[in-house]
This record gives sequence, C-alpha cells and structure tokens, in this order.
Amino acid sequence: MSFKGVDYFCVDSLLSEEELMVRQTARRFVDEEVAPVIRDCYREARFPRDLVPQMAAMGFFGANLEGWGCAGMSNVEYGLIMQELERGDSGVRSFVSVQGALVMYPIHAYGSEEQKRTWLPRLQSGQAVGCFGLTEPDFGSNPAGMRATARRAGAGWILNGEKTWITNGGISDVAVVWARADDGIRGFLVETGTPGYSISDIHGKWSMRASVTSSLAFADCRVSDGNMLPGARGLKAPLSCLSQARYGIGWGAIGAAMDCYETARQYSILRKQFDDRPIASHQLVQEKLAWMITEITKAQLLALHAGRLKDQGRIEPAHISMLKRNNVGIALECARLSRDLLGANGITDEYPIMRHLCNLETVKTYEGTDHIHALVIGEKVTGVQAYR
Ligand SMILES: Cc1cc2nc3c(=O)[nH]c(=O)nc-3n(C[C@H](O)[C@H](O)[C@H](O)COP(=O)(O)OP(=O)(O)OC[C@H]3O[C@@H](n4cnc5c(N)ncnc54)[C@H](O)[C@@H]3O)c2cc1C
Repeated sequence: MSFKGVDYFCVDSLLSEEELMVRQTARRFVDEEVAPVIRDCYREARFPRDLVPQMAAMGFFGANLEGWGCAGMSNVEYGLIMQELERGDSGVRSFVSVQGALVMYPIHAYGSEEQKRTWLPRLQSGQAVGCFGLTEPDFGSNPAGMRATARRAGAGWILNGEKTWITNGGISDVAVVWARADDGIRGFLVETGTPGYSISDIHGKWSMRASVTSSLAFADCRVSDGNMLPGARGLKAPLSCLSQARYGIGWGAIGAAMDCYETARQYSILRKQFDDRPIASHQLVQEKLAWMITEITKAQLLALHAGRLKDQGRIEPAHISMLKRNNVGIALECARLSRDLLGANGITDEYPIMRHLCNLETVKTYEGTDHIHALVIGEKVTGVQAYR
C-alpha cells in the first residue's frame, strides 16, 4: 500500500517541487522495498543488507554532501529522506544516518585528500560500510571522559580501548574511532581486519532489532599516520558529526510518528465496539488523534524551519537539540497512544506500532539523551551549564 502522507496544515505547500519529488522517491522506496521485508527482519534481528545498493543508487548516503559522488542535496531534501526512511524503520534510517552523517561527514570535513579519495566514493556507493565509535562502556552522555587512547609510535599510532553500542559495527569495513592523544581527542579511520582491532555484536535487543549494534575493542592496534583525520581536533569534531546526525533524527522521528498515527487513525475508523459504532466516534479516541496530529504538525514545521536555517548556515547545536528532543519525544508519545488505540492488536507485529515504539526508546537515548538535550536548551536560555 502506498503511503499518502500526513499533511493537516498544508505544510507541503512550503516545499518546492524538487523537495516533493525527493520525498516521493524515498516514499516509494520505503513502500516497495522496506515495508514488505521489515517485519521479518525485525523478528529475525536482521538488518536488510540487500537494500544497501538501492539506497546508494538513490543517493541516500551522504546525500547533503558535495562532491565525491555525493548527491549534493539541500538539508530539507536530506531531512525528507530521513523522514521517509524512519517511517519504514528507525534501524534503516540509523544505517543511513551513520553512513552519511557520522562516517562520510567527518571524512569530508576533517579528512585528507587521500582519505576522501579512498573512502568517500566507496561509502557513497555502498561498496563500503562505516561505523562511528564514540561511546564507551563507562562514558555515554559524557564522551569527554573517554578512556580510549591513541599513542604516537614512529610514523603511526597505537590505539587501545573499547567502544560500545556502535551501529553498523559488525558489518562495517571502516570505523571512525575517537581516542585521547597527548594533544587532545583525535579521530582515526580503522579498517576492519587491522591487527589488534576486534568487533563483537550485541544481542538480546528489544529495540533496533533490524540494525546491527556492536562493541569494538582495540588492543595495541597500530594504524598509520594516514589513518588519522588531520582536521579533527578536540571533542568539537565528534560533536559536529553528532549535530549532523541529530538533525536527521529530528526529521526521521516524524516518519515513525506519522506511521503510528496513520495506522491508528485508519484502525479507529474501521474498528467497531458498543452498538456497532467505530471507536473513532468516541471523544476520548478523537482527543488522542487530535493530540497526535497537532504534535506531528508542530514537529513538521520545526523540522522544516531547522532545515531552512541549516541551508542558510544559521542553525546552532542548541536548535538541533530542540528539534531532536521534541520530535523524538512526540513520536514516542504518538507510538504509545497509537498502541493504546489498537487495543490488543496493538501489541502484535501485524502492525508497525510496537516496532516503532521499541525503536524510539533507542532514538530517545542515542545521539544525546532527552535529558542532555534539555540541558543544552537550558544552558542556551540561562547561560548556566547544568550537566556537569
Ligand atoms: C541501539 C543503539 C545504537 C547506538 N549507536 C551508537 C553509535 O553508532 N556510536 C556511538 O558512539 N554510540 C552509539 N550509541 C550509544 C548512545 O549514544 C549512548 O547510549 C547515549 O549517549 C547514552 O549513553 P549511556 O547509554 O551510557 O547512558 P548514560 O550516559 O549512562 O545515561 C543514563 C541516564 O542518565 C542520564 N544522565 C546522564 N548524565 C546526566 C546529566 N548530567 N544530567 C541529567 N541526566 C543525565 C541520561 O539522560 C540517561 O537517562 C547507541 C546506543 C544504542 C542504544
């Protein structure tokens, strides 16, 4: 079934023909390629890897980057792709976010010409998969405490330490790894198979089951100087990558919310209880639908404004914190309300709601938790840093 979209407030009228076309292409891809397989992938805890070449051919990887085969799309077009992909599944959107915003972006922004030439065309075309290693077992919200080290050794570096909760780790060809060197935090490109580098997948997840999540270990792992990202210095480099990814998440969450809302809306019209009346005829049910469509509309406007600001080079990290926190928060609430409206049917995987709900629990936590983004907003409006 093709998705008709959710547009209560003529938000589509704010989009250009080109933007609508990009969205339609991504929408059709999700309807035709993701929707038919995602339930089984989720059941089997399997990432639909065979979709990678098609996503590459449509320019989804690093879509808002210029050069090296990247599509050079606007940030609004990129956001619309993220929205549609997450309507399919947060895990599929996560793959694309990591590949583009967390692997291609740092190479594009901080890499040498040689690194760009080696990796960007391969990552854009899906011939290579990347992952981003920042989180450690003891340092999640506070990456500044990281223990992974990079020690100079002759013409290269020796890496030691551990990264965990790394999306795409087990299927990656290259990892962007952040480690503490004598002169501060530096970024490294570590190829899978490098001696001293090992990867183990994390199992038993009830969230993001259609996404690979792994731990990375570095034991005297030697990389050459050419593997260090020369332009990345200090924590602001990985944080700048997170800003790119969080921007996409702000759009993506709308997709999951739209899928939950639309499923619940249709169900409530068809499902009958008490005197053969649709449950949609009850005020309590309508109030939930009204809440959802209002919040989705506000989220759409927030994302679009963020995209326009980003295209003008005027967006700030604190704007992106509000976008990510608000849109993920309302998406999670939409998933919970939609699940409620489907009654018992809401807990099965015949419907996408419970999958979105479980996924969104991760989306609330990763790329800066809801709390941390609240504190970034709090700092912006008070000038007082509360998270330390
Ligand atoms: C499926 C999945 C995929 C992921 N993919 C990646 C990836 O690709 N790369 C990567 O590097 N990381 C990844 N992560 C890790 C993710 O970014 C971290 O989980 C996140 O940063 C939170 O860290 P934590 O889990 O250690 O929680 P903690 O930092 O321990 O936080 C636990 C709780 O304490 C709260 N808290 C912590 N400090 C404060 C404070 N100062 N004030 C108020 N509350 C606070 C948090 O908000 C949270 O509620 C992934 C995580 C998941 C679940």
